[in-house]
Amino acid sequence: MPNMSLKKNEMPAQAPDVRNKNFKEVALGYTAETAVDEAKRCLNCKHKPCVGGCPVKIHIPDFIAKVAEGKFEEAYQIIQKSSSLPAVCGRVCPQETQCEQKCVRGVKGEPVAIGRLERFVADWHNEHSCDLPVKAQPNGHKVAVVGSGPAGLTCAGDLAKRGYDVTVFEALHLAGGVLVYGIPEFRLPKAIVQKEIDNLNALGVKVETNMVIGKVLSVDELMDEFAFEAVFIGSGAGLPRFMNIPGENLKDVYSANEFLTRVNLMKAYKEDARTPIAHAKKVAVVGGGNVAMDAARCAKRLGAEEVTIVYRRSEAELPARREEVEHAKEEGISFKLLTNPVRILEGENGFVGGMECVEMELGEPDASGRRSPVVKENSEFTMDVDCVIMAIGTSPNPLIKSTTKGLETQRWGGIIADENGQTSREGVFAGGDAVTGAATVILAMGAGKTAAEAIDEYIKNKK
Ligand SMILES: Cc1cc2nc3c(=O)[nH]c(=O)nc-3n(C[C@H](O)[C@H](O)[C@H](O)COP(=O)(O)OP(=O)(O)OC[C@H]3O[C@@H](n4cnc5c(N)ncnc54)[C@H](O)[C@@H]3O)c2cc1C
Ligand code: SF4
Repeated sequence: MPNMSLKKNEMPAQAPDVRNKNFKEVALGYTAETAVDEAKRCLNCKHKPCVGGCPVKIHIPDFIAKVAEGKFEEAYQIIQKSSSLPAVCGRVCPQETQCEQKCVRGVKGEPVAIGRLERFVADWHNEHSCDLPVKAQPNGHKVAVVGSGPAGLTCAGDLAKRGYDVTVFEALHLAGGVLVYGIPEFRLPKAIVQKEIDNLNALGVKVETNMVIGKVLSVDELMDEFAFEAVFIGSGAGLPRFMNIPGENLKDVYSANEFLTRVNLMKAYKEDARTPIAHAKKVAVVGGGNVAMDAARCAKRLGAEEVTIVYRRSEAELPARREEVEHAKEEGISFKLLTNPVRILEGENGFVGGMECVEMELGEPDASGRRSPVVKENSEFTMDVDCVIMAIGTSPNPLIKSTTKGLETQRWGGIIADENGQTSREGVFAGGDAVTGAATVILAMGAGKTAAEAIDEYIKNKK
């Protein structure tokens, strides 16, 4: 008998006033009992609408049926065929706009908690199974991957499964891209990312860190001198944007990238960390996306008394996931909406002494259908802050474009690639944020997967 409860099983979590003082994971995950019970809510629909909502097409009802039978390892093997990073996706995918949005149980109540079940299955496997993935028979072909974020790692894993000799070149000292330097430990523990990377290493994927392609070696050199037959570029969109307002170069104005890299990659929140970070008291975070929520929640955990999100539109337009906004509010983050900074004020010794803002109101809808904010006359006011974090977006770094012959890009810097990831340069493929601009983990993985297939075709046809 299916479980006809209209609600998903709750996932236990740390209490807000406890978790806002530590960096441990907020959500604690299902137990075997709650997972089996939740899995019984799935109706195993004939047309599987949920699968259509998943960018990597996980066989959702099949894996959920195994969970319902208590066969967790079999459930993992089904997910693993389509996704290389299930413990990550179960945690950070916006399921509410993907698989769960399509779930028929969502018509009358809440959809099946597909993301929570995926997370449960991946964690169960990581805890209980010692089996390493089996290496494929080598096929004698070499492919290079630039960047070790979800796009690069997925492409590398899929190619290794087909027998390719794959090397990933990563600029930073640790692999994982945004999963290690951007998304905080309390949403995505880094040990989980490392475990997924170890699985890829076991498949034969080599990762070379501290390798900035475009500086240490160029894409042309990889192909001409090191005999890589194809290159996949998954270098992300890690170049922060600023507002270009006065005072942005004062001390303790950060880009969200720098702030989050210090906290997450360099572990600046730990007492014995060698990388310092400002422990500010009154922090303003400018922006309304997931990145802004992460930066605000990190600032709170570093001991700030007041953390305020400053966003120029209203609550309804906040681009962050609803769940992230709710979590931030529960943890004591304030929201100053319909507000825009115009100048950061200098305090003592070149540090931030305040921020001048204007109030905004929403005008007519623009071309994208969103109502654009307009400044209210004579609405200037000053916020008392000692640290400002800019989280207003990022774009792709121009380094690869400027050092790769014949690689065409959009005016804003995104690499131009067709639906298979093929760029204007033969043998060079691209995907993820480097192509789309800042998007999601699962879309980057989907692009890595599609490109792996296209690279396989390309190399087979070249013979
Ligand atoms: C703070 C934050 C929170 C987010 N939260 C979510 C979320 O909850 N859910 C979600 O789905 N998405 C989220 N995202 C978006 C998501 O993380 C990205 O869309 C995704 O990581 C893109 O993957 P990618 O592989 O294209 O690039 P990235 O993850 O950016 O990886 C690119 C890698 O390439 C490396 N690189 C760059 N240039 C070079 C070079 N020249 N040579 C060698 N290596 C290079 C970089 O160091 C990096 O490791 C978040 C992003 C941020 C910043
Ligand atoms: S749509 Fe929902 S109920 Fe139907 S198979 Fe998918 S997860 Fe199960």
